[in-house]
Amino acid sequence: MDRIRIGLVGIGKIARDQHLPALAALPDFELAATASRHGRVDGVRGYSSIAEMLAGEPEITAVSLCTPPEGRFEQAVTAIRAGKHLMLEKPPTATVSEAEALAALAREQGVTLFATWHSREAAEVDAARDWLADKRIGAVRIRWMENIRQWHPGQDWILAPGGFGVFDPGINALSIATRILPQPLTVLSATMDVPANRACPIASAIRFRSGDAEVDAQFDFLQTGLQTWHIEVETDGGLLRLTDGGCKLELPGREPISGPNEEYPRLYAGFAKLVRDGRSDVDLRPIQLVADAFLVADRRTTEAFEF
Ligand code: NAP
Repeated sequence: MDRIRIGLVGIGKIARDQHLPALAALPDFELAATASRHGRVDGVRGYSSIAEMLAGEPEITAVSLCTPPEGRFEQAVTAIRAGKHLMLEKPPTATVSEAEALAALAREQGVTLFATWHSREAAEVDAARDWLADKRIGAVRIRWMENIRQWHPGQDWILAPGGFGVFDPGINALSIATRILPQPLTVLSATMDVPANRACPIASAIRFRSGDAEVDAQFDFLQTGLQTWHIEVETDGGLLRLTDGGCKLELPGREPISGPNEEYPRLYAGFAKLVRDGRSDVDLRPIQLVADAFLVADRRTTEAFEF
């Protein structure tokens, strides 16, 4: 099978940390070009915008967007209208309706659209889902607490309108929860702490329901010391603990299990398969839950935040 000639857009932290190594390691892809206003990749032709890249590289058949969610819709429309298969970083877009419009446009154009959720590819997420499938869920605790200064240094966009604030990492937890819990989640209530000089929350507490169970989620961007990305599920078969962002699983009466981080190679392998099968994968439940939390949130203004 021919390799998929792909263009990578938005050469920032995640493009360098994960997308470039994953693309280099997989035989399915050939990185044909990049588009970024400032970022360049050695040995790869670089353009300043997606439109210039597509004009200069007619043989590209797929595009992967690693830009922030605000503004990604226009880039996505440009790629899909040009007949390219498209992979989106999470969150797929700044709003739910933008993502729905992209899914409809991709169908119309007959191209693959893949709205990725990298945390779902963490090593033990599937095992957690399988173990929970026949359990009765009592309560769920989600704790996604990290230091914005450590993981997102200088990323002002993340606290600007459309940046999702603490829901940028928090949506990863929701992508896992919507994958592993047997019943759909709905939002009950939320509080959001928004710094006086920013548009998006830096901390949030959300209550969801999943079947008869209450799900209590706490997202915090100001966590120093131990960084916490874990989900605990109380069930009629005992306590499940999924920790380290989904890499480690503790089940009652068993030794903990953990696997290597292969999230991005798995995402790109999944994208290649979708392209070859002529299918799309657009699951909007995580972003819908975030949107619902913003609809009902009790907002509190907190002290100004500087990086
Ligand atoms: P980043 O370091 O700020 O990189 C994003 C790149 O996109 C920038 O370097 C910039 O490159 C380009 N860009 C285009 N329009 C932009 C704008 N209006 N504001 C800022 N940059 C703009 O961000 P990132 O951490 O890579 O995150 C990008 C996406 O990946 C987000 O959706 C995020 O949720 C997701 N993600 C991030 C991580 C992580 O650990 N950082 C992990 C998983 C997923 P030019 O200036 O060259 O155009």
